[in-house]
Amino acid sequence: MPPLPSYEDALSRVLAAIPAPLPRRTRELRFAFGATLAEPILADRDQPPFNRVTMDGYALHAADIVPGVRLRVVGEVPAGAEPDINITAGQTAKVSTGAPLPPGADAVIRHEWTTVSADQGFPEVAFTINSASPGDCVHPQGADARASQPILNTGARITPITLAIAAGAGVTRAQVIAGPPIVHIISSGDEIVPSQTPTATLRPSQIRNSNSEMLQAAIPAFGASLRDSELIPDDPHTTVESVDRALSAADVLVTIGGVSAGEHDHFPAAFKKAGVQTIIHGVAIQPGKPVLIGRRPNDGALVVALPGNPVSVLAVMHLFLWPILRHLAGAPSDLPWRPARLAGETNAKPTRALYRPAIEIEPGLVEVPQWHGSGDLIHASRTHGLIEIPPASAPIPAHTTLRFLPYPSRTAAPPDVAP
Ligand code: AMP
Ligand code: MG
Repeated sequence: MPPLPSYEDALSRVLAAIPAPLPRRTRELRFAFGATLAEPILADRDQPPFNRVTMDGYALHAADIVPGVRLRVVGEVPAGAEPDINITAGQTAKVSTGAPLPPGADAVIRHEWTTVSADQGFPEVAFTINSASPGDCVHPQGADARASQPILNTGARITPITLAIAAGAGVTRAQVIAGPPIVHIISSGDEIVPSQTPTATLRPSQIRNSNSEMLQAAIPAFGASLRDSELIPDDPHTTVESVDRALSAADVLVTIGGVSAGEHDHFPAAFKKAGVQTIIHGVAIQPGKPVLIGRRPNDGALVVALPGNPVSVLAVMHLFLWPILRHLAGAPSDLPWRPARLAGETNAKPTRALYRPAIEIEPGLVEVPQWHGSGDLIHASRTHGLIEIPPASAPIPAHTTLRFLPYPSRTAAPPDVAP
C-alpha cells in the first residue's frame, strides 16, 4: 500500500481535478439562488390567463352606470370559479378579487361604491358613482405577457422576483450558469435515526443524526446552497439508488458514514457504479482518514464522502468541503489559515497530521481541549477553529507556532471568555 497523501497533497490533487467554476447545467431554480439563466423562460399561457377581476365588487356593462341606475344581481363568480353566466345590459354579478370576469361584462365596480337591496326577492345593486369605463378593475388577459413570449431572458439572475416569475409559468427547473454549488446530503447507518426522534422511542444502540444538522448549517457558510438531506440504511441497493438520484440533482453529493472498508460501508461501491472516479480515498490526517473524494466525468458531479464520526465530519467539512465549494463557486479556494501558538504542550502522531478543534483564548494563542476521540463532539463546543499538528514523534512544546483555520465566522463560537 502506498503511503496516504498529506492533506496539502490531497487537496491540491482534488482541486486540480475539478474544473471551475461550475459548468452550465439544468437545476431546480430555488436552489440556484444567485445563478444566471442560460436560457429564456417563456410564458406557458397568457399572463394573466383570463380577464382578472382586481377588486371585490360587481361585474357589469360600464355603459349601464348612469345616475340612479339599479342593476339586477344574476349570479356570483368567486376566485377559482369558471363563470357560467353571461352578463347582459341591466344585469350584474357579484365577483371577488382574482375571479375571471364573466362574459358580457366589461368592468367591475368595487363593493365600497355600491349598496345592495332586495326588490321583489331579487337583489339589486345601486351605485354611489355616476359613471364607469370599460376595463375598470379588470387586469386584461395577456396584458403582462402573451403565451410563448419570453418572460425572463437569458442572463437574468435568479432572485426572489425571477423565481416567482418563473414559477408563475410553471418553470421550476432551467439551465443555469454560475451561482452557488448545490449540495445534497446523504447520511447513512442502520443505527442512525432522525434527529427529532424522542428519547422514549430510542433503543440504546440508536444514535440521532446529529452530523447532518452540523453539515446543513455549515453549507450556507461555505457559500453553497443546500438541496436536501436524507438518511438511508446500510443497504447496498438503497445506497446505489440514492447516490444516483442525488448526483443527477446536485453539484456536490456529501455523504456521511459508510465510507471505510467494512462490510456495511456501501458508498465506495455505489459511487463506482454511478460512474464516479475516485480522486482520493484516504488521507494521512486524524480525524477523517477514510475520506473519499471523486468526480463523475460526464457531468462533473462531485462526491465528498465523510467518515461518520462527528469530529471527523467537523474536520473534513472544513478541510475539504469548504475549499471545494469555494472553488466551484469561482472564488479563491484558499482557506483563511493563520499562524497561532500553542498554549500548552500537545500530543502529535508520527504518521498523520492531527487537526484538532481548538479554542482561541487570545488572538494567535490556542488551547487544544483534551482529545476524547473523533466520536466526542461535546469537547469541541467552545472551539473556534482547527489547529494543524504536523506529524512528529514527540509532543509539540507549548508556544510552538502552527497553522490555525478559524471556522467561517457564521459558524464559530463567540470569542472565548478567559478561564
Ligand atoms: P461510520 O463512518 O459509518 O463507520 O460511522 C462511524 C461512527 O460515527 C459510528 O459510531 C456511527 O454511529 C457514527 N455516525 C455515523 N453517522 C452519523 C451521523 N449522521 N450522526 C451521528 N453519528 C454518526
Ligand atoms: Mg456506518
